Amino acid sequence: MNQLDQSKKSDLLSLSFEELQALVISIGEPKYRAEQIFPQIHRGISPDEMSNLGKKTKEALASVSFFYLPTVRRKLVSALDGTVKYLFSLRDGHSVESVVMRYKHGITICISSQVGCRMGCAFCASTIGGKVRDLAPSEMLGQIIAAERDLGERISGIVMMGIGEPLDNYDNVLKFLRLVGHEKGLNIGYRHISLSTCGLVDKIARLAKEELPITLSISLHASDNETRSAIMPINKKWSVEQLLDACRDYYAVTGRRISFEYTLIAGKNDSPENALHLAKTLNAHLRTKGADSSFPIHVNLIPVNPVTETGFSASDKNAIAKFASVLEKKGIRATVRRRLGSDINASCGQLRRAEEAKETE
Ligand code: SAH
Repeated sequence: MNQLDQSKKSDLLSLSFEELQALVISIGEPKYRAEQIFPQIHRGISPDEMSNLGKKTKEALASVSFFYLPTVRRKLVSALDGTVKYLFSLRDGHSVESVVMRYKHGITICISSQVGCRMGCAFCASTIGGKVRDLAPSEMLGQIIAAERDLGERISGIVMMGIGEPLDNYDNVLKFLRLVGHEKGLNIGYRHISLSTCGLVDKIARLAKEELPITLSISLHASDNETRSAIMPINKKWSVEQLLDACRDYYAVTGRRISFEYTLIAGKNDSPENALHLAKTLNAHLRTKGADSSFPIHVNLIPVNPVTETGFSASDKNAIAKFASVLEKKGIRATVRRRLGSDINASCGQLRRAEEAKETE
């Protein structure tokens, strides 16, 4: 089957339960087939392998739809903490990264939402080649399903912090979120899902109305507009103030806490003055009027992961500790992100770049 033929067919794993019901009805099958098919495809079983479908049903289904899971192109396992980094191949030969992290309370996967990224953050490897394309809902789900099958273990949490800007692929990401939380599918609780964004203010406002109790993570990285615009081009469109207003509204509507990511880059955004400015700005915008004084502000400090092309280096331990203590003194909880999988370079989009460079050599 070539790709052209497949493009006219429905991507089974991207269909909502209701869309799958409509599809089975359209091929003359009873509606209850959807009940049989949906849970199995969400466990990575292709219709061909389903023992409760007859040959005729399988053929009819194959004539209108396709099922595809990402395949493992590379897999790195950390000898330090068991973190696993996957480079997955997609149907069209592009690849994305996912990272599986082991915590006491369960296994969390960090997934990608796009092939590449167009946000242009100065420190980030994923954006260097620009955006290639958006991922379909099936390709986001597929990263989880393929990892579960490879590991033989269940995944209980998701962070959307891999390659891509999830809110720049809004409709597919929303469909993915509804699928992954579906009781007949993977059924992962929304409280165990975080979505990280560089700050697409209009989309944050839209997300607030979706009634999805996920955790929002904001990649802030600087609190003054000059510094933030220099390292994050999105800040030229929406300023720090607009972003924080959107965060305040998000909390007011959802009641869900927001965490702020702050990547520390030596000499750029890591001085005690930067920390004080950050604390004052967060307090001023989020904890202004009486009712807001309880706004739970949590800052995650992350030493920048050096990317060859960017020339940035990480702040030293003392600078990080000082930064955290300035925040704490102003009533802001700060934690320094524990680096999992540091021996396999788990936390950046460099594996995809390295592999794709090999191919074009
Ligand atoms: N586009 C989304 C999600 C992907 S990036 C976002 O911007 O939030 C996930 C997180 O990794 C973001 O906080 C991002 O700023 C951070 N990040 C990217 N490159 C990094 C690097 N080299 N070192 C440390 N953190 C980095």
